[in-house]
Amino acid sequence: MVRGRRKELSDKITASQSGYWGNGTGVSGNRDVAETPVALSLSLMTRERSTILVSLHGPDRAGISAALMEVLAAGGAEIYDIEQIVVRQRLTLNLLVGVIPEGATVRDVLYFAWENGLHVEFEVIEPAPEPLRTMSVVTVIGPIVGPEEFGQVAGAIAGGGANIERIVRLSRYPVISYELTISGGDIDRIRATLVDVAAASPIDVAIQPDGLVRRAKRMVVMDVDSTLIQEEIINLLAREAGVEDKVAEITSAALAGEIDFEESLRERVSLLAGLGQDTLGQVASKISLTPGARTLIRTLKRLGVKTAIVSAGFTRFTSGLAEQLGIDYSLSNTLDVKDGVLTGALVGEFVDGPRKARFLQEIASAERIPIDQVVAIGDGANDLDMLSVAGLGIAFNAKPFVTEKVGTSITVPFLDAILFLLGIAREHVDAADASDPGFDQPMLMEIPGTPPA
Ligand SMILES: [Mg+2]
Repeated sequence: MVRGRRKELSDKITASQSGYWGNGTGVSGNRDVAETPVALSLSLMTRERSTILVSLHGPDRAGISAALMEVLAAGGAEIYDIEQIVVRQRLTLNLLVGVIPEGATVRDVLYFAWENGLHVEFEVIEPAPEPLRTMSVVTVIGPIVGPEEFGQVAGAIAGGGANIERIVRLSRYPVISYELTISGGDIDRIRATLVDVAAASPIDVAIQPDGLVRRAKRMVVMDVDSTLIQEEIINLLAREAGVEDKVAEITSAALAGEIDFEESLRERVSLLAGLGQDTLGQVASKISLTPGARTLIRTLKRLGVKTAIVSAGFTRFTSGLAEQLGIDYSLSNTLDVKDGVLTGALVGEFVDGPRKARFLQEIASAERIPIDQVVAIGDGANDLDMLSVAGLGIAFNAKPFVTEKVGTSITVPFLDAILFLLGIAREHVDAADASDPGFDQPMLMEIPGTPPA
């Protein structure tokens, strides 16, 4: 990363027209170099190299970097650092170079810039690199990210004492997302301000420490109802049983953390007693995946990330989803069926919040994946345990009770927005799809309708 403290240019370089040097004016490409005799005499008192930051910008063309390197090599320059970005065929290139005093590097770079229509600036920099600072990543996601939203995010970063080092766009659809790499600052303070920014605008903002762990997520564990799928299956079943209002009311209170979860689920299931098994197939056909769910799972699988679903909902539905999507692990509650009808009871181990968290730990351990490399995604109060034990817990379109307790939230209704939080660019997702011969085949839209024996 190119950085350094600006030093008074006159210390090292004298130029007959100082306006072209280090004052931000630069040298534009349409100047006639022959008529601007910039007499460069790099500090001849010493043979030590001067460290110069060279900033070039202007129209990009193939081979421009190679040609510049030839110029630097011919002048005996050393390269200490390089950063380059091209946006809409406009090149911005920063080079930190060491030049020998009597070398012609600066003059030659100036001529090179003029030849190529590039604007160039030079700054003499303290040769010692700045001490390393803590790096963090801020992800901004929204249906639109306008100057107002961006300004608020940048203000929060500056207010927390951090500096934006780099900004890249990760996606244009289904949401706009940007990743900002920031250095230094008080992360807790920045996070607190960003939470307020996100709450007051349509954007989602997350801040995470940068580093290997962020790049190396190896397992994603997801809730099912209102996370992987758009519905609460218990409510769909209740509709068929004619008890929708009563069950929906209890579900809402349970997910908001207002009542005991296990007791409330057993109560709701008891209201389903007598529902025929064939009705379960009809309910299965009404399930709709959350937009972006397939893209998320498909991309995670391509990355070799293990996937899991864990639900207080029902095996009858979750096992079909896991099979359809190729999810590695699934755990949920099992409805008791006798003589082709629901008895209103559950069988087997009860899956609630603490069990979800233990399941996450068990499968991570089985896969020998450190817990800080596990991502958990959920929306309800019974997801809080697993969201807090995972290395990254994401509240996805969650109940306010949950969002308040989890540092990272997504409120846009697309599950593939999770990929952007992980630093994955949309264009890479699309390129992988485009090169996958199996991708164009129609994907299964329905959950298999017949329950397994
Ligand atoms: Mg849920």
